[in-house]
Amino acid sequence: MSDLVNLSALNKEQLTRFCEDMGWKRYRSDQLFQWIHYHRAATIDAMSNLPKAAREELSRVAELKGVEAAGESRSADGTIKMLFRLHDDRLVESVLIPELFPDGVADRLTVCVSSQVGCVFGCTFCATGKMGLLRNLTIGEITGQVLAMNHLAEKTFDKRITNVVYMGMGEPFHNYKPVTDSAEILCDPLGLDLSPRRITISTVGLTRQIQRYADERRPWNLAISLHAADDEKRSRIMPINENLNLNALREALTHYHRQTRQPVTYEYLLFDRFNDAVDDARKLAKIARWVPSKINIIMYNHVEGVTLQRAKEDRLSRFMGELTRLGARATVRRSRGDDIEAGCGQLATKK
Ligand code: SF4
Repeated sequence: MSDLVNLSALNKEQLTRFCEDMGWKRYRSDQLFQWIHYHRAATIDAMSNLPKAAREELSRVAELKGVEAAGESRSADGTIKMLFRLHDDRLVESVLIPELFPDGVADRLTVCVSSQVGCVFGCTFCATGKMGLLRNLTIGEITGQVLAMNHLAEKTFDKRITNVVYMGMGEPFHNYKPVTDSAEILCDPLGLDLSPRRITISTVGLTRQIQRYADERRPWNLAISLHAADDEKRSRIMPINENLNLNALREALTHYHRQTRQPVTYEYLLFDRFNDAVDDARKLAKIARWVPSKINIIMYNHVEGVTLQRAKEDRLSRFMGELTRLGARATVRRSRGDDIEAGCGQLATKK
């Protein structure tokens, strides 16, 4: 194992401390930060505004382990999925989801980013869950995906990305510190300078981390992967619910709202004749009243080996009708990039 410090795995504070330990002035750490989290430097030698002697000194004690583009697929609907190779040859995926004006000009450009290689939680509808957890991503492996997708957005749509959602491979709150550190970096004026309201972190409902997120008063949007509105059904498709059930989730979200006054978003994949009955909509509407919230109803894209199917349009209309009648704020999201397996639940690296 290498003794070199991986600079891209450090948060801003750690990077400052590292530069202090090197005996360098403060501005050096800002320079390093920008090279790593803005300019996407692949090597220390590429940091051209550092004097040669400083680069040599740095190379003796540190290295950069970022992400490297390893493949790209484009969907007929404009969605682009990118495959990234990590330093240990593991692979992760990110998705760029464009929403265009009728004249083809980009309105919103959302990046869906991965936070782990694989995932331990084993939700039955999810391709990532079938991989098991291989490892957590570092800060730089997360920001590196976003920067690469931003570059792609500028090249393809002549516009920077507008939103980031932590909804790719992995459970973001299971890799809490690098995920929140990376979100801070994405909002840093020396980085992409994104507004915190443009970033959403999603969780399957890890209650301890939700409480921590609340206590730390984190500014990014919080989304809950709910996908079923009662314990019996939720436990059938999301094993986590057996330990952390809806009551526990309710408690954590009440705490979250008390601390932050922020609403939450529920993600609800609508499955044919599993969770799409009028009675499910009534239960969901009740959950939506726990704390101020909105619901995204997501139309599921097929995952190999999964028997759950996308709900039919007539059942979707009835479901939405009931939610509206009960005063829940709900929107239907058509999962994008089905033809390139880039939709919700479809990310997994087959290589
Ligand atoms: S849905 Fe999320 S938490 Fe569940 S297995 Fe997939 S990546 Fe993990």
